[in-house]
Amino acid sequence: MFSKNKIDSFIKQAPVLKEIMDLKPLIWLNPNIKSKAEMPSFPIKRKDMEAAAKLWERFAPFFVKAFPETAETKGILESPLKEIQNMKALLNQESTKIQGQFFLKCDNALPIAGSIKARGGFFEVLHYAEDLAINAGILKNGDDYSIFTSDKFKEFFSKYKIGVGSTGNLGLSIGIISAKLGFQVTVYVSSDAKKWKKDLLRSKGVQIIEFAGDFSEAILAGRQKTNADPMAYFVDDENSHELFLGYTVGALRLAKQLEEANIKVDTEHPLFVYSPCGVGGSPGGTAFGLKQIYGDNVHCFFVEPTHSPAVLTGLVTGEMSNISVQDIGVDNKTEADGLAVGRPSNFATTVSGHLISGIYTIEDNHLFTLLAQLMDTEKIFLEPSATAGLIGPQMLAKTDYAAKNKLKMENATHIVWATGGDLVPDEERNTFYNRGINNLAHSTL
Ligand SMILES: *Cc1c(COP(=O)(O)O)cnc(C)c1O
Repeated sequence: MFSKNKIDSFIKQAPVLKEIMDLKPLIWLNPNIKSKAEMPSFPIKRKDMEAAAKLWERFAPFFVKAFPETAETKGILESPLKEIQNMKALLNQESTKIQGQFFLKCDNALPIAGSIKARGGFFEVLHYAEDLAINAGILKNGDDYSIFTSDKFKEFFSKYKIGVGSTGNLGLSIGIISAKLGFQVTVYVSSDAKKWKKDLLRSKGVQIIEFAGDFSEAILAGRQKTNADPMAYFVDDENSHELFLGYTVGALRLAKQLEEANIKVDTEHPLFVYSPCGVGGSPGGTAFGLKQIYGDNVHCFFVEPTHSPAVLTGLVTGEMSNISVQDIGVDNKTEADGLAVGRPSNFATTVSGHLISGIYTIEDNHLFTLLAQLMDTEKIFLEPSATAGLIGPQMLAKTDYAAKNKLKMENATHIVWATGGDLVPDEERNTFYNRGINNLAHSTL
């Protein structure tokens, strides 16, 4: 806990904290960003990211067999990069014109999990499963990994347990992949987890333990229970290196897509990426990967709900994961699944603190409005959290960032990272959409 005096001293040092406490939508530019030349050394390196990409390749035959929907892409799980000109035109009517090209990275359409968690969550479980199998002597270099679908492997993994704390999407990804491999899985969910997510997990044989509190409490309980069991492994969203590494691979894949589309990223052609942020793992991993590839020519921004500015609070105060939004009187109540996080990941936030250009916040209502607008203009459905990046260029235009860094905005490429959506049931989709339409009818947004 922090005393009133301590909070006041944070505000004195960074007045933006007062606005954060007042729940104002705002954009904060990171004063501690490091250029490529002055970047400190991190516990994760480019070679780790490349090794992570290799692990995905080894598991491709497993995916083809276990999840036939991935056969078309030969077991590689990737999402399209789509230019969204109609949405751009609509946004341009409302506010400052977006300069440059405007794209959506459609992780809402990632196979199996329908969210960005298919990158980090799947990766960590696959990494663990591979380690177990190698140590047990049932897997060796060069084996065809479709062997992971065999009864022998399933029986082997059934002795082991996996636990995870989640507001929903991480639990979905860990639950689905772990159950498929044969693990016993327990998902510790916070009170805000949606019923359909719990039902879906139960239908896959996943055990659900519900908590009255928020995400941090679910994680705490899950961590204690899981770590007390020698046969159990806890996927720790607040600390995990593996989750982070899984996300970095998305950057390598995106770079390939940009190259294939002949989109340049260099000193004359800046790249901007806007990522919805919960604990900071997925946007942090993405930013880390992109910085490895593009250095100072990529500019990464995170987005958080005004009611859950966990990473922003950690960075602005310098307290990282020692401070929660509740400590500054913010309630962590948002309908943006995956972003309803009061305390950031320690590891991810420490890394991101050097890499990111800034963070902006957005109100829940605005997420729904954007959801409806994207549906109407592009026929793409995203879950509310995933729409948060759509106002990135407009928020950026409110600052002197481009001028200060002498960026050629007319040559810019903006990428909105759409982090989830495909698994949301129709009924929920309609409710979300109608809420957005209702906002549009009643507001001047
Ligand atoms: C988890 C999630 C995020 C944020 O990822 P973190 O690693 O928690 O920062 C963003 N959008 C969606 C849809 C998510 O499920």
